[in-house]
Amino acid sequence: MKILIVGAGLYGAVCAHELAKLGHTITVIDKRPQIAGNIYTHEVAGIQVHQYGAHIFHTQDPDIWAYIQQFATFNRFTNQVVANYKGELYNLPFNMNTFHQMWGVNTPAEAQAKIRAQQAELADREPQNLEEQAIKLVGRDIYEKLIKDYTTKQWGQAPKDLPSFIIRRLPVRFSFDNNYFNDPYQGIPIGGYTQIIAKMLDHSNIDVRLNTDFLTDRKTWLQDFDQIIYTGMVDEFCDYRFGALGYRSLRFETETKPVGNVQGNAVINYTDADTPYTRIIEHKWFEFGAGDPEQSVITREYPQTYIKGREPYYPINDENNNALAKRYLDFAKTQYPQVHFGGRLGLYKYYNMDQVIASALHLVSEFSR
Ligand code: UDP
Repeated sequence: MKILIVGAGLYGAVCAHELAKLGHTITVIDKRPQIAGNIYTHEVAGIQVHQYGAHIFHTQDPDIWAYIQQFATFNRFTNQVVANYKGELYNLPFNMNTFHQMWGVNTPAEAQAKIRAQQAELADREPQNLEEQAIKLVGRDIYEKLIKDYTTKQWGQAPKDLPSFIIRRLPVRFSFDNNYFNDPYQGIPIGGYTQIIAKMLDHSNIDVRLNTDFLTDRKTWLQDFDQIIYTGMVDEFCDYRFGALGYRSLRFETETKPVGNVQGNAVINYTDADTPYTRIIEHKWFEFGAGDPEQSVITREYPQTYIKGREPYYPINDENNNALAKRYLDFAKTQYPQVHFGGRLGLYKYYNMDQVIASALHLVSEFSR
């Protein structure tokens, strides 16, 4: 088959790689001047800079871990985020170190007692939103200092108006373990992410065309290919006929500092309302301080409203948006049966990289049936 893949990010590249191996003829187009979508990294001062935000690979699936390692060797990086609330430092995710720093408690039983006392305000109600879910998990003190303002900045909405699943991305544990993820496999690819995508796309059956927009020429693309895999926004693909889906955008401010070590950690979150950014990434710490000892690259991450022309980094998966996304996907399926939607934007899902790979491999398995 002649297959067009729109978007040279992780989802598109996994599909391209696997379908090319099956003997299909693949064209991959991307409107950006480079491959790799939002996992694009490039070298500055001897280290890999994550241009579209930090990406830490983690998975609980040994097959996905084995799969990604065909394309790179991973280091043993473990994400251990520090939160800065008005100069007070706390370990994340919520664990015994955090509870000790917040309340001076030393044992799991003491921490659990504190949280139980603070949960009482919910009176056994099932949490209905992010705020209630957070208070149920870690109590009001932690909610007020580490969650409320960060979440409001990140999403541009009050935690009361956000779905509770977002806060359940973060582990809560009663041990002294600062690992941000529960997954057994985690790391950063040595040499960056772009090489992974380059290797996936390096096949004689794959033709890659950059600076190429699907939507400006959609009629021709739709005519010329048997099947299309589309990783852009599903509402835009359908000309917003049912209205726009909600997305959250980000602005990254990247700076090379003439200092070897700026913050001593890969990720520091700023959880107060006054700091306009949510976090600062110091890229060299993804590689244990490698690179130029006299310089360091940092990136401040400012959440911003999504408007056309900006990058839609996050879907806002509340009930209304999810229902609308389903309506779009159902509509597209009947109107364009040859088009398959995939990735964070195509499926309107807050996917991590491992979920993107699993989902792409699933689509490929449907093709080969
Ligand atoms: N969160 C928070 N405080 C933090 C970090 C995260 O309240 O210091 C909340 C916030 O609502 C955020 C969610 O937890 O959107 C998920 O965080 P994660 O780090 O998984 O977000 P991502 O890295 O995908 O932006």
